[in-house]
Amino acid sequence: MYTPIKRKKTREVKIGNIGVGGNNPIRVQSMTSTKTEDVEATVKQILELKEAGCEIVRVAVPSRKHVESIKKIVEQINNVIPIVADVHFDYKIAIMVSEVGVSKVRINPGNIGGFQKVREVISACKLNGIPIRIGVNSGSLEKDLIDKYNGVTADALVESAIRWIDFFDKEGFLDIVISVKSSIVPQMIEAYRKLSEKVDFPLHLGVTEAGTPKTGIIKSAIGIGSLLYDGIGDTFRVSLTAEPVEEVKVAWEILKALGIRSRGVDIIACPTCGRTKIDLISLAEKVEKALENEKLPIKVAVMGCEVNGPGEASIADVGIAAGKNQGVIFRKGVPIKRLKEEELLNGLLEEIEKIKEEMGYK
Ligand code: SF4
Repeated sequence: MYTPIKRKKTREVKIGNIGVGGNNPIRVQSMTSTKTEDVEATVKQILELKEAGCEIVRVAVPSRKHVESIKKIVEQINNVIPIVADVHFDYKIAIMVSEVGVSKVRINPGNIGGFQKVREVISACKLNGIPIRIGVNSGSLEKDLIDKYNGVTADALVESAIRWIDFFDKEGFLDIVISVKSSIVPQMIEAYRKLSEKVDFPLHLGVTEAGTPKTGIIKSAIGIGSLLYDGIGDTFRVSLTAEPVEEVKVAWEILKALGIRSRGVDIIACPTCGRTKIDLISLAEKVEKALENEKLPIKVAVMGCEVNGPGEASIADVGIAAGKNQGVIFRKGVPIKRLKEEELLNGLLEEIEKIKEEMGYK
């Protein structure tokens, strides 16, 4: 047993029909990697992301000509999942997209061209009833703050965020989500911790330019995971140089690892040791592949020996404990059938089907 994470209380903001902050679950986000002008490919990818467990999708709107594309995307997606328009530099794009049915606009106020232009974006979003994400980012921090802090620091990121929150407050617009991202993990952790002490707006977590899965997963798990463990964060995106569906899978693994939310199978596998007598690594990979799209929220163990396996994995609902050329299938640590090595995978999958029937899970 362990003490569950206590989340810091934040205000609720509605992104389309999805609530973020307040009592809502921590939301998983991703961003499309297709060309926005390729409406068909972008819609396809958005639907794949939704199927993988994504709850909010961001789409880049790099130029004014892309506004028509995102309009078509929003129409075709038809509220299946909220679409967030990602806008940089050109405040007119932010104003234009606010009118085409997107559920939120993300801007970095620091790169949109000054207070008056941000004011006009706020007016447009207010008129169209959609929230704004204030993205403060180590890459687009205001020059005066870089000078004041002698470079990009966590305090500089926080001061920028507070400056913009105060500005939005004066404009009478607090339908906002805040991010203070950095590519430096300790810096983003410090910035979010300090910011969460000062404000109660929903926080969008992320490590920018986290990299390829090899490093990006580690950076995101440490950066985002540390904050979530502190109870900080209401939504997040794992940024990877990879297919965006991978971002969503990793995001769910972070939530599952922290015991915050469950989705699909949680696989426990032993690291193997001198007692292992079968090719357990390949068996564990086959189990993972076979259960990749299984939505049943159970723990499945793949253990290398019968001596310690069932006991070590007794928290698992079902699992394999391998022996020499054979193994047992166990449920909650209790062996229920013995099978040859080549039958173990199917034996496990059959048992999972039985669990589904018992749970009335379709
Ligand atoms: S479960 Fe058995 S094989 Fe796997 S690491 Fe533990 S002792 Fe070794």
